[in-house]
Amino acid sequence: MTRNPWLEAHAYLGPVAGLCAEVERAAEGIELLHAHIPDWDDYRVDFLAGVPLLSSAGAAVDLEPGGRMAAALLERLASESSSGSLADETRALDAELRLEPDLSRRIVDFLLGDDTLTPRVPGLLRYLGWTAMARFLRPVVEGFAAWRDEERWLRSYCPTCGSLPAMAQLAGADPGRMRLLACGCCGTRWQFKRTGCPFCEADSQRLASVTIQGEPGLRIDHCESCGGYIKTYDGQGNETLMLSDWSSLHLDLIAYDRGLKRLAASLYEFEPARHP
Ligand SMILES: [Zn+2]
Ligand SMILES: [Zn+2]
Repeated sequence: MTRNPWLEAHAYLGPVAGLCAEVERAAEGIELLHAHIPDWDDYRVDFLAGVPLLSSAGAAVDLEPGGRMAAALLERLASESSSGSLADETRALDAELRLEPDLSRRIVDFLLGDDTLTPRVPGLLRYLGWTAMARFLRPVVEGFAAWRDEERWLRSYCPTCGSLPAMAQLAGADPGRMRLLACGCCGTRWQFKRTGCPFCEADSQRLASVTIQGEPGLRIDHCESCGGYIKTYDGQGNETLMLSDWSSLHLDLIAYDRGLKRLAASLYEFEPARHP
């Protein structure tokens, strides 16, 4: 299913879809820089040891231009004349960060988990930052996928940036059917064991599945051991939409109503009011 029929069937996703479209439009308007593809031999030892690519001193991917793209995206959104909460928040964030020395590096460090940069709306900086950074990293993510032996990773965190997955996908047909995990930050998809919880070490029998009426391509897989769940796209061909996380935020509500915990990473700051 493509974006428009999906939105017609799920009108309540309209606001978040509009926000994503506005940010994507702005991102298309900034200068596209490309990350330098590392020499994979320099990364091999770290890869086998489970070190994500962007954290590897051997691979030494220079992310600073991606940080510059993130700062440019923020500035562009802040300078546009549109109104509404996104415009207000990007203006406040831009004003807050503009005085920061070495901003592009600080944004890179922030995206990789450094907590010394403390903007008032960290979720917005994370979302805009990764939107720009994913564009910057695209050739590296593609080159990495071509080089990587998936069987040698099979970890629950992203081989590129180290984030926990945002979603999962069941792809292919039996007997070769496999489960992929999808990073909501850098856009990498990587192979994980077919069953088993990506958030704890529970054995495979403990993963249960909830299918959703009217949503044949989606389901919620949850772990009876840790209570975590991961939204799973049970199909192929519509990855961009179906693995975007925002297009299935209603499943997070269903999971929340069942008392499940979102342990998956999210750029959409989906934080329902917590029970006391
Ligand atoms: Zn990633
Ligand atoms: Zn678990």
